[in-house]
Amino acid sequence: AAGPVGFIGLGNMGGPMARNLLKAGHEVVGFDVSEDNLTKFAEAGGRLAQSPLAVAAAAQTVVTMLPAGAHVREVYLGKDGLLLDGGASSGSLLIDCSTCDVHVTKEVAAASASRGAVAVDAPVSGGTPGAEQATLTFMVGGSLDAFESASLILKHMGKKVVHCGDAGMGQAAKLCNNLVLGITMAAVCEGHALAESLGLDQRKLADILNTSSGRCWSSDTYNPCPGVMDGVPSSRGYTGGFACDLMLKDLNLATSAAFVSKPKLGLPLGGLALQLYSQMSARGDGGKAMLGSGLRILHLSLR
Ligand code: NAD
Repeated sequence: AAGPVGFIGLGNMGGPMARNLLKAGHEVVGFDVSEDNLTKFAEAGGRLAQSPLAVAAAAQTVVTMLPAGAHVREVYLGKDGLLLDGGASSGSLLIDCSTCDVHVTKEVAAASASRGAVAVDAPVSGGTPGAEQATLTFMVGGSLDAFESASLILKHMGKKVVHCGDAGMGQAAKLCNNLVLGITMAAVCEGHALAESLGLDQRKLADILNTSSGRCWSSDTYNPCPGVMDGVPSSRGYTGGFACDLMLKDLNLATSAAFVSKPKLGLPLGGLALQLYSQMSARGDGGKAMLGSGLRILHLSLR
């Protein structure tokens, strides 16, 4: 779409994603409740708006990148929300990249349709490095037409944009992916914890894992063991990146989706991983420590 692009939620992911839209030559109008994140966005050349409604009034295409379903509902349907009078209308394209409940996504899609606007769910994988380097994968739910329009914007922030089906199917794909991630991250943590107990050098283990059958994203791209890789949260005091509480949120979304699915499904490994992340969160590491790194601390503290 021509004209400025709106962006709401300029955090660990949304901040660098919005910067990539600016780099691609788009004018970007942003809103966030965090002053710090707004300042960084303005320094990168973004224009500030006062509310989601003001963003929708200024831009026909709006991207949202918020923590969870409650924030998504607030930004779309709450006070000064995107979908109020004077905001999104016929011709607006609303792209929600947050990971949230399938039912919130469907509610937003229906509310958008009733105003003549089009909404798609487009959650991402690739983490903060993917957001910074514009190499994210987007999993899109919505009509084929909406998918094609959204792709024109999303391609500036990622390298792969996949149409997963109707509204909600992008979220469904994301929940399945993060279920696997939550479990494999815990597995890599356990491997490194065992290496420590056995006196095996952690870098040697990582080298072996990454050229052997244990290799996965958690071992070769986001290794949870401090000192094994540069530029990942485990090597900078577990700051930045994907917070434990976000992983916990996604495992909760996956296990509750499985509970209401037909046929109802049990997720035994997902349930176990969920318990590990919730223990870590309860210890006060939910916001700061990155998922696997904190899990590793938990694991070591339990021995
Ligand atoms: P974050 O907490 O760093 O950023 C969220 C931003 O939304 C913050 O700047 C916050 O101030 C803002 N916000 C909250 N409520 C708001 C409101 N009502 N109005 C305007 N702004 C509001 O989170 P993040 O790491 O950027 O993650 C965002 C989403 O992306 C989550 O759903 C997460 O599960 C998903 N995700 C994250 C990663 C990752 O590695 N961080 C990877 C894939 C997907």
